[in-house]
Amino acid sequence: MSAPVVIVGTGLAGYNLAREWRKLDSETPLLLITADDGRSYSKPMLSTGFGKNKDADGLSMAEPGAMAEQLKAEVRTHTRISGIDPGHKQLWIGEEAVPYRDLILAWGAEPIRVPVAGDAQDAILPINDLEDYARFRTAAAGKQRLLLLGAGLIGCEFANDLVHAGFAVDVAHLGAWPLERLLPVEAGQRLADSLAALGVNWHFGRTGKSVEATAAGYAVTLDNGEIVAADVVLSAIGLRPRTQLAKAAGIPVGRGIQTNGLLETGAAHVYAMGDCAEVEGLNQPYVQPLMVQARALAATLTGTPTPVVYPAMPVMVKTPAHPVAVLPPKIGAVGGWQVECSDTGVCALHVDEAGRLQGFALTGSETGRRNALAKEVAA
Ligand SMILES: Cc1cc2nc3c(=O)[nH]c(=O)nc-3n(C[C@H](O)[C@H](O)[C@H](O)COP(=O)(O)OP(=O)(O)OC[C@H]3O[C@@H](n4cnc5c(N)ncnc54)[C@H](O)[C@@H]3O)c2cc1C
Repeated sequence: MSAPVVIVGTGLAGYNLAREWRKLDSETPLLLITADDGRSYSKPMLSTGFGKNKDADGLSMAEPGAMAEQLKAEVRTHTRISGIDPGHKQLWIGEEAVPYRDLILAWGAEPIRVPVAGDAQDAILPINDLEDYARFRTAAAGKQRLLLLGAGLIGCEFANDLVHAGFAVDVAHLGAWPLERLLPVEAGQRLADSLAALGVNWHFGRTGKSVEATAAGYAVTLDNGEIVAADVVLSAIGLRPRTQLAKAAGIPVGRGIQTNGLLETGAAHVYAMGDCAEVEGLNQPYVQPLMVQARALAATLTGTPTPVVYPAMPVMVKTPAHPVAVLPPKIGAVGGWQVECSDTGVCALHVDEAGRLQGFALTGSETGRRNALAKEVAA
């Protein structure tokens, strides 16, 4: 039998690519390999699951066996790739060599760990997949006080979801306002105020220094010496594309695994997509880019080389207390924010010297303008 197309990863990137490719090629053998349990789920649901009272099983959409059947594929679960040998078109699972026709790296990003001292460092939980979520649900059952480290997109969504679910939520964040890399201060402040009104207790400019177990739970010391008592400590300080195995195989990596517009890495027959990929210099860890990548790569794998072409892709932050929509300006864009605030929201437009719209940050009622403004940016 000829060597299969092998996809490493059964996240949204891996499964969407498999689906798109099967529309074009229903015959070539397909093997999906994943370190986790291979269930199909939508990762964005993890940060709205608690409020909806969904446990991990409730968020799972399909078992790996059902996915295998649907995709006419073999799905190997709880199987970790340990190396790639592009010269021989094979990968390693421990001692086992697996040949491939084409290899697609869709193995995602991993949570950055908070460097803390103390005897209970392991109590800090990241939530980056369904299994993390299950672990968190178990840890949080019957508990009251929750400390979140980090107020980026994922941290803000969890803060909203968990305060809504009835937890007393403290958030320690190094920035001076939430989402400071995406939002000007006025917009970030509005989001912070809306979450504070629900009960979120903010600690800006702060990070965790140490975590100790106490009789009642955990004591987390912040970098100003303040001690926050918590039953559960969640970390959402950011994700880092998984690059190590690619680098070890001699495949060029930067922030992510570097690819050209066809998603080709520096090694022949090896592609990368989704959270692990840096496509033409850009790592975009969101769903919409990976959907565009999946369609383009499916065509490329079927013999029609197709570069990714992105539409303008605003990102919605799922904070119902005060929703946010952002379209960040391109890296290196020169310009500044023009901010208008009303009682119900903030409209911040990133404009260059010639008055051209390069990006935006909208909150509250202003988020309704996102599609119209996205068209303007694209034009
Ligand atoms: C809480 C949360 C909320 C989010 N909300 C949104 C949102 O609202 N909108 C949006 O656009 N984006 C959102 N995102 C981002 C979005 O979910 C991700 O961009 C997307 O899910 C990434 O998919 P992926 O398939 O690239 O990676 P992953 O889903 O991380 O999949 C990686 C896969 O690779 C496997 N793997 C890793 N290493 C190995 C190995 N060595 N061997 C074998 N298998 C391996 C893993 O087991 C897994 O199957 C959110 C993310 C989080 C965490």
